[in-house]
Amino acid sequence: MRGWWRPAHPVQQRTGPGAGRRAEPARRRGQAALLPREPRHREAVRRLDRRAAVAYGPRVAAHRPGELADLIATLVAKLVSEHTLSLDEYAALIDARTSALADELAGRARETCEAAYGDAVFARGLIEFTNVCKNDCYYCGIRRSNRACERYRLAPEQILACADAGWQAGFRTFVLQGGEDPAATDEWLAGVVADLKAAYPGCAVTLSVGERSRESYRHLRAAGADRYLLRHETATAAHYRQLHPAAMTLQRRMACLSDLREAGFAVGAGFMVGSPFQTTEHLAADLAFIQEFRPEMCGIGPFVPHRDTPFAAEAPGTVELTCYLLSLVRLAHPTVLLPATTALEALDPRSREKGILAGANVVMPNLSPPERQGDYALYDGKPRSSADAARKWADLAARLEPLGRRLVEDRGDPAAAWASVVGPAAASVVSPARGAVVLAAASRPVSAAAATAPGSSSAASFPSTFPPVPSTKVNPS
Ligand code: SF4
Repeated sequence: MRGWWRPAHPVQQRTGPGAGRRAEPARRRGQAALLPREPRHREAVRRLDRRAAVAYGPRVAAHRPGELADLIATLVAKLVSEHTLSLDEYAALIDARTSALADELAGRARETCEAAYGDAVFARGLIEFTNVCKNDCYYCGIRRSNRACERYRLAPEQILACADAGWQAGFRTFVLQGGEDPAATDEWLAGVVADLKAAYPGCAVTLSVGERSRESYRHLRAAGADRYLLRHETATAAHYRQLHPAAMTLQRRMACLSDLREAGFAVGAGFMVGSPFQTTEHLAADLAFIQEFRPEMCGIGPFVPHRDTPFAAEAPGTVELTCYLLSLVRLAHPTVLLPATTALEALDPRSREKGILAGANVVMPNLSPPERQGDYALYDGKPRSSADAARKWADLAARLEPLGRRLVEDRGDPAAAWASVVGPAAASVVSPARGAVVLAAASRPVSAAAATAPGSSSAASFPSTFPPVPSTKVNPS
């Protein structure tokens, strides 16, 4: 037995001969860890009362708060073996968290990660090539309305220079990330992707350039891009509206994720932790969405306020809750590629290690030119480094080694054999194919206007070439 949360099924414990005596020490430890001291713990009891009544009938439902440990144990065992929970069950696990439970889930998450990927940690070389964005997300430091932001665009040769340094150091995946810059046309992006692929055969190219049309995604995929990151930010439409202007909708975001999968990309979704107005129910919905859609990648980072945004005075998310959710995501989706995000490091310089220990297996060092890293300030306190790519690689490898993890020179593609990792029974319950169906249902219908106006790319209305002078101030309005 690994800890108090892995006892026998709670019903068996209470009814088997001598079961109560055998379980008593573990039960006492569980009670000590989980007696409802905080309001959220009492909320977990309430949720689990409701759940127990449905699952086990009134006898078990009449449990006392100290027996919360048994019910949490049941949820953890179910998540570890079946990789699915209901919304209420996820919410209960979030509310019931203690440091003891977080440690246990992190241990299970690491085991699950190792089963799929061994001790490998994959590096993505991040190249932030434009901080021009036509959108106005309330939480983002490079939002259109921020006049204090010094805008820039990197020229193709600058991007290739960043990639070249990364390739020499060992990076085999490059992530081209930017705001939704109207000048980044399909043709321009496809050219950069093709150049990268030609210069570094065997590399993987990930794009992170926001909402675009279905045709645009197909074009970029055909040009050789392998993966696409598009965080959903929150899976609850009402919450999405609180974080974005009216022109942006969750329906549109979900339609883009569906289109990306249809175009053949390995798709990355993800969400913020601790964003303004966020509730336990919102986070539970995010976990349920990840469980159903099964993105190949999932980026989870704490909300960190930026001084020049409407959310400047909001409290940031926490490393503790973010790492807890990393563990839950790993257990819900064993083969997901899960980064320990840079935003974590804005709150705690050792949080990259904490993310890895919670079940993450990807790191994304910044290969952008040092003089531009400060201008891609999505949030305050974003880490910057003038170290060259080789130094960054060596530092990361040295930081991972004490954790029993290896930084590997590998593209780090998603684990292919889904069923071999989760088992055929679980694979039939929660499969990528089922996720696609769920997503399609959630994202349709999309109005014709939404499908073609904001966020879509059109060679007719956008410049066909990128501005050659990268340091030009180009505030769009
Ligand atoms: S979050 Fe992305 S889409 Fe929104 S303003 Fe920032 S860069 Fe633009």
